[in-house]
Amino acid sequence: MKILVIGSGGREHALVWKLAQSPKTTRIYCAPGNGGIGRMAELVPLPVDDLDGLVEWARKEQIDLTVVGPEVPLALGIVDCFEKAGLRIFGPSKAAARLEGSKSFAKNLMQKYGIPTATYQVFTDPGEAKAYIKKKGTPIVIKADGLAAGKGVVVARDLETALRAVEELMEDEKFAEAGKKVVIEEFLQGVEVSLLALTDGSAVLPMTPVHDHKAVYDGDKGPNTGGMGAFSPSHLVDDNLVTRIKSEILEPTISALAKEGIIYRGVLYAGLMLTEEGPKVLEFNARFGDPETQVILPRLKNDLIEVMEAVIDGKLADLELTWKENKALTVILASGGYPLAYEKGKLIYGLDQKGQVQDEDVIIFHAGTKYVDGKWLTNGGRVLGVTALGKDFADAKKKAYDVVKRISFEGQHYRRDIGDKAVNNL
Ligand code: ATP
Repeated sequence: MKILVIGSGGREHALVWKLAQSPKTTRIYCAPGNGGIGRMAELVPLPVDDLDGLVEWARKEQIDLTVVGPEVPLALGIVDCFEKAGLRIFGPSKAAARLEGSKSFAKNLMQKYGIPTATYQVFTDPGEAKAYIKKKGTPIVIKADGLAAGKGVVVARDLETALRAVEELMEDEKFAEAGKKVVIEEFLQGVEVSLLALTDGSAVLPMTPVHDHKAVYDGDKGPNTGGMGAFSPSHLVDDNLVTRIKSEILEPTISALAKEGIIYRGVLYAGLMLTEEGPKVLEFNARFGDPETQVILPRLKNDLIEVMEAVIDGKLADLELTWKENKALTVILASGGYPLAYEKGKLIYGLDQKGQVQDEDVIIFHAGTKYVDGKWLTNGGRVLGVTALGKDFADAKKKAYDVVKRISFEGQHYRRDIGDKAVNNL
């Protein structure tokens, strides 16, 4: 089969790496990809939002299966476009992807169908939003309705921060249209965990639970990033809790959508807070997470093409996912300054020609790299994800950081505490 992966980050590198292992794969392409992905797949220089260009290219090349990584093309309706052209594609339709693309849509759906989440209200008028915040007090959470690359959420501990967030989103239009409508919600206390599931619109198959590290500095300090590391499986989410999340959250969401006339096929990503009252939804994403995918796929034993075909063909009920017994941990190496302004084009030391290191328990997924004249250069905020597999989390952590120390580029920074929560059982 000829496979096309759409996207250019560490998530897409992990997808390419896993899909390339399938005996069904004959050729694998990535649009637009990155330097590291280019050592494993053929790169197609088309941006992720060029839907017409991608459809035309996939049709011309007779691509058998396309897999979409990021949210933007999903929200634009790439799946609908491919299907209309008779091409097989893995991911939710435009209507289904609204679960991520509009937080008010997701919240209203959860409220209507009694799916546990923080209480909230939606506002299009800044004055009313501010009055609501003053009435409710802090801490409180302010969210841009639309897509804002993970930066549209403010957890406000004091009134001034909360009111400023409303001004920035609604009056200064920091995220343009995406922030003109806001969701203001109750602050939830607890431990955060991500549970990604596969669904064909009827059956729901949870994957292995993951802990992400969004803050830039150790101890969860500093501004949020796209993610500085992850580990899996979760030490806090056992099989019973997975079953509970499936029956209280994931299945009700898929059947709620079906009742609204929307068939959801693909990955449903639930960002959850484990509160005293039980798990509650913080957000839904309509895709694989990044870096979560980098710790999930290395432990998955199944052939990913078979899994994705079962989703597309509505045969997921017949499938069982199996996982390696070991633990996975990813440390992200980021450019100096990230998540704020950063420079690109720094020489990366320590990688071989394939962009890897010689270590059978470690895989390096590239997020922002370029390969020029035999040299590796930085080309993004998040540069590399070093994923290690170990017999326990302490072992995985040691293996990952041993490799991290062998890689360097000017200004690089990374968290030193990825996995500590699991190692110390916190
Ligand atoms: P991303 O795209 O990075 O996944 P997002 O912009 O869609 O994120 P959310 O996941 O909704 O935003 O929120 C970002 C972070 O803010 C969460 O991971 C969580 O730490 C915090 N957060 C969100 N909602 C709440 C809440 N109701 N109570 C407490 N913290 C919250």
